[in-house]
Amino acid sequence: MKHWYPTEEDIEEASASLRQGGLIGWPTETVYGLAGNALDAGAVAAIFAAKGRPTFDPLIVHAPDMEAAFALTSEVPPEARRLAESFWPGPLTLVMPRRADLPELLSAGLPTVALRVPAHSVARKVLVSAGIPLAAPSANRFGRISPTCAEHVLEEMQGQDRVAGVLDAGPCTLGVESTVVGFPGRGRVVVYRTGGLPVEVLREVAPGIEVVDVRRAEDDPGLAVRGEQSPGMLARHYAPRTPLRLLEPGRMPPPAPGRTRGWLCFSAVPEGKGPVEVLSTEGDPEVAATRLFACLRRLDAAEVDEIIAWRVPNHGLGRAINDRLSRAAT
Ligand code: AMP
Ligand code: MG
Repeated sequence: MKHWYPTEEDIEEASASLRQGGLIGWPTETVYGLAGNALDAGAVAAIFAAKGRPTFDPLIVHAPDMEAAFALTSEVPPEARRLAESFWPGPLTLVMPRRADLPELLSAGLPTVALRVPAHSVARKVLVSAGIPLAAPSANRFGRISPTCAEHVLEEMQGQDRVAGVLDAGPCTLGVESTVVGFPGRGRVVVYRTGGLPVEVLREVAPGIEVVDVRRAEDDPGLAVRGEQSPGMLARHYAPRTPLRLLEPGRMPPPAPGRTRGWLCFSAVPEGKGPVEVLSTEGDPEVAATRLFACLRRLDAAEVDEIIAWRVPNHGLGRAINDRLSRAAT
């Protein structure tokens, strides 16, 4: 696997492998993606294979600007256009009716496609230089912790020969995945996955926005009929190999003599033996989001019997952090 840097030559070389059907590890403001040509069914299949991702879990397609993104749809709901105009480029994914000629696997057979215009300058340079839309899920093996720096991608993708290289632009500035929003009809605007764009901010433009509890989405006729409940919202995901126990703030786990523990704290350090990671000593959810996945990886590598983590305040980026922690814990 090549290790590229954001020089003009390296960006051109990475873009050339994308045009030839190869895959690359690719920096965005959310997490590192595993990118391939979204219009090439072979490249799309290779992404699923390299990640070990089940084929019912659709991919997000990235475009250099709003017009290029909308060109991949068969229809743009007015609410989607309003959100795109306000928040693209940025950590927002919009699920819209798909153009019929896109590879089926991209959408896992759904009638919709998930689209995003990323804000990261290197990501945008690659999109422009490659001249194709890029399908890019996070560059980790399925179910595992998302990569927030190039070294994580090298770790996750070693031995995958369809992956030509990773383009290293340093650590991601946001650290959690995009917020996914869909439009299941009757003017509804629904958050399928909380993420890097806080719901409070979306609400300023879409006051009626709903946050769906994915465990209940199947009971919602508006979502189930169109098959639009987000298929990738699995209970266990973003998970370290070490069992993780998630506690309410202020609680301590019962003593467990003989078991080693690692601690993932929001701001305060608990009393206890073993490795400790503090997400943000200042208690800042934005800082915590950038550090979340790297802290989880270090605790996982510490080879303790159990990781103890605490929920963070549930607003702003805190919602996305709690979502990832609860799915790491299940
Ligand atoms: P990621 O693993 O970060 O690439 O996230 C992709 C997620 O976006 C999927 O797991 C789904 O939850 C969601 N998604 C992608 N495409 C669609 C779609 N067509 N309909 C609903 N949700 C989608
Ligand atoms: Mg992922």
